[in-house]
This record gives sequence, C-alpha cells and structure tokens, in this order.
Amino acid sequence: MPHIPLNLKTYKSGSTRAPHKPLLLLYALSRWKGGQKEFPWLDLREDVKDLIAQFGGSAGANPQYPFVRLRTDGIWQVSDLDTDFKGDMKISELNRLNNRGSFTAEFEAQISDSQAFADLVQNLLDEHFSETLHEDIRLAVGLQEPSALSTYTRRQRNPYFRQAVLDAYQYQCAICGYNLRYRNTLIGVEAAHIQWHNSQGPDEVDNGLALCSIHHKLLDYGAIGFDHNRELLIASGVNGADLDFWLHRHKGRGLQLPSNGVSEPRPEYLQWQRREVFKG
Ligand SMILES: [Zn+2]
Repeated sequence: MPHIPLNLKTYKSGSTRAPHKPLLLLYALSRWKGGQKEFPWLDLREDVKDLIAQFGGSAGANPQYPFVRLRTDGIWQVSDLDTDFKGDMKISELNRLNNRGSFTAEFEAQISDSQAFADLVQNLLDEHFSETLHEDIRLAVGLQEPSALSTYTRRQRNPYFRQAVLDAYQYQCAICGYNLRYRNTLIGVEAAHIQWHNSQGPDEVDNGLALCSIHHKLLDYGAIGFDHNRELLIASGVNGADLDFWLHRHKGRGLQLPSNGVSEPRPEYLQWQRREVFKG
C-alpha cells in the first residue's frame, strides 16, 4: 500500500485544534474522487467556509488560510503563486486571480489506491473531529461511508472508559436525565469525552460526561458548553422549535454530577471545550 507522506498530527499544536486544512482536504478529496482535478478558489471558498463554520468548532471561518498553507505539506499546489511563497494571500488577491488549487502528481499517485484513499479520509476524521461528527462531515463533503475493505485500525480506546463514566453518572444524561432502557439495555446514553480523545483528552472519568445522544452531539458540535460553574452555555446561533425543551429549561439547573465528588468534570477539560469547540 502506498505510504501517504502526511503527518496529520503536525496540523495540531498540543491540544489546540486546527480543523482548517483537514476540512479543505476532505472537500477536495471528495471532488477529486469524483473526477475533478482542479479546485478554483472562487468555486470552493463558500463551501469550505461553510464547512469550517459548521465543523471547525470555535475556529474562524477563513478558507484562504488552508488554501494557501496546505502547499507546505507537499501535497497541494496553487496556480499563479511562486513555489517558495510563504505566508498568506489576501482574499481580495485570491478573488482577483481566482488561483486554482490541485494535488501534486505524487500525492495523486498515492491516493489513486482506493485503500490508501479510504484510510486517509478515516485518519483525517479520527485525528481532527469527534466521532459524533464523522457521519455529518462525510455527508457534507459527499464522501461515502468507510467500505468493508478498509483495514485502517482505529486508535485503541480504553474499554473501561464508557463503563466507568456511565457508572459514575448512574446511567443517565447529566444534562436532561434521559435514561430510557429496553428491558436492561440502555438506549442512547453515551460516555462523552469533554476534551476530545484525539486532542489529548484522557480516558478518565473526570474528562467524561454521560450524555444522551442529542446532548452529546450538541456538545461536540459546539452548540453548547459549560461555564466555570458547570452551568450550561448555549451558542447564540442555536435555534429551532425545541430549543426550550432541549436546552433552555436546563439552564441554571447545573449538571447532574456523580455523587462521589471525585469523578466530577475537571475545569481544565470544560475550558478546553469552550476554547476549541464551543461556538459562543
Ligand atoms: Zn440529554
């Protein structure tokens, strides 16, 4: 299998997220698979901006940064730009020149192997986004579900994390108390990482919350967060008919925390989520 010369971890610095390049790459990979070989700036700027606004957490939606900076990874080239150009281009300049991005021939040769392509896509998702968002991102960029062929091995998870978190929270959502079961099987209550596992969040109960599927997704999407008193925060852009049912009525009530005290969410993890994910 061809080796993809891409150190995806270098996009991040420590636990700080850097979702711009991965989102541009996923956008371009999907279209490349569909036969498109060049990506004009004016065609992609709005789509990539939307992707960053949706899935980039708290990141500013600036598609011009990854469009130019992805060149430094040796897999992407931009027309009408000196190969040794460093720095960023102004949006006005990009709009005027309508530069075209494309993958380098070497990178195209590597991703033409469908196994390598599938693994790269999965790796980008695993390294940069919470698992709760993977399906939505695939849908948004038009990339298929991973095929049964994929041999990419997912990062080993601590098998006890889920059990320990659910135990500590008595098998119910810490925000709304949801705990429906079918007989003895719990349905739709999950162990969420507050600081994502792919961003150095540990598999410890004090970095976990038991949440129903809806509140888990809202948290990882950045639609909600918690302040330093662990009170619910709601991003200003959240709207919809059920806003009161899902969110507003839980404001000011605080989280339903483990009774033992020691497993409570640590402020530093809640702070990471506010800084890197919450849309404010
Ligand atoms: Zn809930």
